[in-house]
Amino acid sequence: MNQFNVGILGATGAVGQKFVRLLKEHPWFTIRKLGASERSADQKYWEAVNWIEDVPLPQDIADIDVNRCEPDAFEEVDFVFSGLDSSVASEIEQNFAQSGIPVISNAKNYRMDDTVPLLIPEINPDHINLIRSQTFTEDHSGWIVTNPNCVCIPLTMALKPVYDQFGLEAVNLTSLQAVSGAGYPGVSSMDILGNVIPFINGEEGKIHLEPLKLLGKINEANSIDYAKFPIQATATRVPTINGHLLSITAKLSDMPSDIQEVKQAIRNWQSPIAELGLPTAPANPIKLFENDYYPQPRLHATTDNGMQLSMGRLRNSRVFDISFVALAHNTIRGAAGGAVLNAELLVKKGYLNNT
Ligand code: NAP
Repeated sequence: MNQFNVGILGATGAVGQKFVRLLKEHPWFTIRKLGASERSADQKYWEAVNWIEDVPLPQDIADIDVNRCEPDAFEEVDFVFSGLDSSVASEIEQNFAQSGIPVISNAKNYRMDDTVPLLIPEINPDHINLIRSQTFTEDHSGWIVTNPNCVCIPLTMALKPVYDQFGLEAVNLTSLQAVSGAGYPGVSSMDILGNVIPFINGEEGKIHLEPLKLLGKINEANSIDYAKFPIQATATRVPTINGHLLSITAKLSDMPSDIQEVKQAIRNWQSPIAELGLPTAPANPIKLFENDYYPQPRLHATTDNGMQLSMGRLRNSRVFDISFVALAHNTIRGAAGGAVLNAELLVKKGYLNNT
């Protein structure tokens, strides 16, 4: 396959740096352009970035000039990944799409737009058809695809096998979210060390809605019929570095004969993209542990290159029907890695072309 030339918007942030790290080794995508704010523009990447990845900053990337996030500066790329702050993503991503440059975004701004796919390739690959309804350019060359919030990804991946086999009536969860989820510099050390903060501004509303779009069905009018069950979330920040752990309780529509039947549904679930050979796709997208002490953020967030969803503690619930925990790496599976997998699917399905 010919290489694709890619740009990264928001390249200096926590998610942007993860993009740099993942794309540096990518077999299809080559980093050509980096963009960030006025503060970083017109400097070499090494001067503008406060590198927080635990591998050295690659020298060839370090020497790239950081641009303002303006489409004219990104003309030679085939598409861009966006790790932009949500306060600026609406206008910048729209400008790129209108200039005929596809945007694969992590920001929340377009996630709930009726014509924008909110995509997890293993969960709803057919939702990419929504792209055909976008009107950023007359020739459909510019469009936006988003990936979900970093809690919604593990939540929806964990719910999917259960939803498909038993249906869902209601879901209640508490998230224990790592500090890297707040970006850089994120939460003050004085606030988080030895502490738990029982609220994350703006987070719970996303958790209540995004899984319903993800589990929705695309209809004949090329729009999504959302799944219909209530989700109640309590989002908390805890002093882990990477990996969001969720404690979930669910009420099912159809009762399994016993908890073993639920375990079988999860273990037998087949990823619809397993045969596509996408480089970032994990070998085992969902791992269900029997050991009650697993999964743990420090031990399991990076399994399968940070792309695996880990589940454990699956048991009968005394309040609803089942309870379990789920874990995923928030800046890999929950952000940059998820977006790279989205791009790979879009290449495979013919939506992305290289020049
Ligand atoms: P971050 O560390 O704060 O990085 C924000 C990036 O946006 C920086 O590169 C920053 O550039 C750039 N930016 C800010 N203002 C700009 C402007 N006016 N013009 C152009 N660029 C500008 O945030 P993050 O954690 O990486 O998150 C990035 C996005 O991904 C957010 O929308 C976030 O909600 C989403 N997300 C994050 C996670 C996670 O786990 N962290 C997970 C899923 C989704 P400068 O350095 O030049 O200011």
